[in-house]
Amino acid sequence: MSDIIQLLPDHVANQIAAGEVVQRPASVVKELLENAIDAKAGYIKLIIKEAGKTLIQVIDDGVGMSVTDARLSFERHATSKIKTAEDLFELNTKGFRGEALASIAAIAHVDLKTKQEQDEVGTEIKIEGSKVLSQEACVNPKGTSISVKNLFYNIPARRNFLKSNAVELRHIIDEFHRVTMAHPGIRFDMYHNGSEVFNLPVSNDRQRIVNIFGGKTNEKLVPIKEETDLVTIHGFVGKPEYAKRSRGEQFFFVNNRFIKSAYLNHAVTAAFEGLLKDKAHPSYFIYLEVDPKSIDINIHPTKTEIKFEDEHALYAMLRSTIKHSLGQFNVAPVLDFNRDASMDTPYEYKSKIAQAPTIEVDRNFNPFKEEKQRTTATSNTQKNYSAFKKEAPGSWENLYTGLESEVSSNDVKQTSFSTVEFESEEQTGSLFETDDKKDLEHHTTYQLRKKYIVTTIKSGMVIINQNRAHQRIVYEELLKSITMASAVSQQLLFPLVLSFSKTEITLLETVKEQLENTGFIFGKLDLGEIEITAIPSVVTEKEVATLLEQLLSDLENEVPDSGFSQTDLLAKSMSKSIAVRSGVELVPEQQRYMANSLFACTEPTITPDNKPTFITLTVDEIDKKF
Ligand code: ADP
Ligand code: MG
Repeated sequence: MSDIIQLLPDHVANQIAAGEVVQRPASVVKELLENAIDAKAGYIKLIIKEAGKTLIQVIDDGVGMSVTDARLSFERHATSKIKTAEDLFELNTKGFRGEALASIAAIAHVDLKTKQEQDEVGTEIKIEGSKVLSQEACVNPKGTSISVKNLFYNIPARRNFLKSNAVELRHIIDEFHRVTMAHPGIRFDMYHNGSEVFNLPVSNDRQRIVNIFGGKTNEKLVPIKEETDLVTIHGFVGKPEYAKRSRGEQFFFVNNRFIKSAYLNHAVTAAFEGLLKDKAHPSYFIYLEVDPKSIDINIHPTKTEIKFEDEHALYAMLRSTIKHSLGQFNVAPVLDFNRDASMDTPYEYKSKIAQAPTIEVDRNFNPFKEEKQRTTATSNTQKNYSAFKKEAPGSWENLYTGLESEVSSNDVKQTSFSTVEFESEEQTGSLFETDDKKDLEHHTTYQLRKKYIVTTIKSGMVIINQNRAHQRIVYEELLKSITMASAVSQQLLFPLVLSFSKTEITLLETVKEQLENTGFIFGKLDLGEIEITAIPSVVTEKEVATLLEQLLSDLENEVPDSGFSQTDLLAKSMSKSIAVRSGVELVPEQQRYMANSLFACTEPTITPDNKPTFITLTVDEIDKKF
């Protein structure tokens, strides 16, 4: 048999290598930003279109490249950063593999413009699928601009594998956060679809974190500091009371490189022992400086995992440093002497005219409400939709659950407990006021364990799961209002102001139109705050914050792609937040409403997540049991 082994042509090898380096638009962002940092840029601008699917551009004012280097930079294993294997142990640069540009150029349309300070003219190279289309002299300021268009244009499988814009944008923003947090001494801007998402001036660590995550972050941070021969630790941990259920803001940087480490994460969590509520995750921004010789960055192609020489010592040190800082913070308010005075004014506000401070008030407090409660509590008009939406589980009412079962269910309504239970009447627009009481009007309904609604049908009986049924009802209503833009809004007396990070706001913007179709009206959406002037009639003001938080986490985690499924995701997420929970008592009218509306649905049998909403028991089946 003749020889069958042959060397792969370069463009094929590059495409294969690209698979390792470039998983998604965010990987390109990371590589380009890191190259700009290695080029000693003082200002780096990131421009994104369509979550990086159509354009990723990075412009820097760094050292630039000569004509020859510009051409060479696209070769595989072409790097200016190391010369020998020993250099790997003295790394001060982000890159060193010389693979990024070659990989990116293999799977996209790339346009590079670069000029060194001393040169008269710069160089422009256009390259597509590893093929150089042109190389010419060009006018360019000192530095480099690389634009990457139509990522994965020649690997349709990869392109189709990309997730929705919301998800891909989230990944890009995550990378941007990691890189910018590690380099507060560099100015960064980021634009998405023409609008500015971040504007980060040169600053210190703390300011950078605050500029990224919003003004309110400042008060949440507890500084940590420790210096030993092995390591210098500095940075911040979030105060325990601000810990979140989602693992959000957790960052380790080693020698200014973001890294992931389950082991060190454990050290931090251990330091918080006993201070956190169940399942809450602390936020942390921790910078470690170690001797480059004592770590190995080379174990992962994207360089986010590294090996430490003395991991155990590092663990112990990190834990005790954080414990110490938290302890100090517990006994006395933190006096941060290193604090920069300009921190008191968030950067964006510097040039603005001072505004009177806003006072934290209970936005749900309504002076007229109490009056109303008093008058309505005795009158037995408990039709209100919001009335049965009070969340019983987990509240003080649990204390009475035993008691209640001792009283017959009819009596319960008359007792003072129930008067309290139904007092929350914030909303007059009510689903129950639609006179939708037709079919089951005369049927008797019964609520079982505040969880199921039992009623009869011709063939026997139906047991409806109140939470699931309501999810289905709300879901279909929302779908209708989103697609037909027919929602009913309730105007709020005072606009509701909620704070979100810029990232979250950018994500909300991707579904703003759909949200408006459900009945939300936004006053403004920027600077870490959103102002809501009207909300859908099916939601109460109290629920809005949780609803939007749930929506954000669903948006990040699910995989919607077409416009339709985005709408679907939104309706699903909102219906879950809005639907009446089990544990909530429903008056007969509400029970009938629930049954009627469920059976008026297009798909009454299942929830939007395909779980059964009710079961039936036919008379035959009952007969058999006797
Ligand atoms: P690496 O960063 O691992 O060296 P890359 O493929 O990312 O490999 O880049 C190859 C080379 O191109 C770099 O070593 C550097 O010399 C040059 N280069 C890339 N981007 C820039 C930039 N923005 N400014 C100046 N030089 C750059
Ligand atoms: Mg690089």
